[in-house]
Amino acid sequence: MQTDRPLPAFEDVTAAAARLRGHAHRTPVLRSATADARAGAKLFFKCENLQRMGAFKFRGAFNALSRFTPAQRAAGVATFSSGNHAQAVALSARELGIPAAILMPLDAPRLKMEATRGYGAEVITYDRYTQDREALTRELAQARGMTVIPPYDHADVIAGQGTAALELFEEAGPLDHLFVPLGGGGLLAGSALAARALAPGCRVWGVEPEAGNDGQQSMARGEIVHIDTPRTIADGAQTQHLGQLTFPIIRRDCAGVLTATDAQLVAAMHFMAERMKLLVEPTGCLGLAAALGAGVPLAGQRVGIVLSGGNVDLARFASLVTGGPG
Ligand SMILES: *Cc1c(COP(=O)(O)O)cnc(C)c1O
Repeated sequence: MQTDRPLPAFEDVTAAAARLRGHAHRTPVLRSATADARAGAKLFFKCENLQRMGAFKFRGAFNALSRFTPAQRAAGVATFSSGNHAQAVALSARELGIPAAILMPLDAPRLKMEATRGYGAEVITYDRYTQDREALTRELAQARGMTVIPPYDHADVIAGQGTAALELFEEAGPLDHLFVPLGGGGLLAGSALAARALAPGCRVWGVEPEAGNDGQQSMARGEIVHIDTPRTIADGAQTQHLGQLTFPIIRRDCAGVLTATDAQLVAAMHFMAERMKLLVEPTGCLGLAAALGAGVPLAGQRVGIVLSGGNVDLARFASLVTGGPG
């Protein structure tokens, strides 16, 4: 079973940071007087929308792939994703000279499929309504001797994702709160490991879409709660459950899980574009939306916000911020 795998620790995050040096961008930490005034706090934005391939997921994928043995490198990597993890694995694999096969749903956004193919990965499509993607990936990996790197429930992925918060703490200094978008919990668990070591007083919050609050339910019940795929514009956080590795870390090290509505995400996207000139995808706005609206008292405090990604096609972005159906 997966449950007896050891949890990653802070040392794994610092080791990942060393592997990523010269490969991942050290993304900027931006400030905004307008945002500070709006929140009544000092906000520090970690801009992973400006990371390579447009999201923090490059960090975890590259860290995991760079730990492959020569035999694993030769046989290749397999994964499943309709979104940013697909592109992250494809780009990392290309840089490391590793063959990659990626299962994507037939109805995945064409742009994302093309980007994944553009990075040189083999894209294999499946029907998301009738086929089990995890089983298909396992079969494919077995047939070809490939290693599977899942999107969040993997120690090297979690450690890699934690390097974004590591950089934020290094640059911003001590923070009272940190707001982190939450899907399967790789980014949140990694961030919590960094905070635990570098800023033990910092309260780390996961933020998930209100339509799919499995993380919040899991924290309340003390066990991983599974839900149906939620309907939300936050397509990077439409996960159905936390992971066997991410949940215990989140439970141990996080202050709690908050939610944001689609309307709050749209307002945050609008604010980021208009005031900070930043293109942030709906999922990437979860942290800001909760900092502005979830009722955590922040007056005068130092608050970190992870902007996790910026991959949204412009027509959809325009439609969302001008009030269309998305
Ligand atoms: C994947 C993703 C998330 C959620 O990350 P998890 O590690 O699954 O919690 C958040 N934002 C963006 C932009 C993503 O691509």
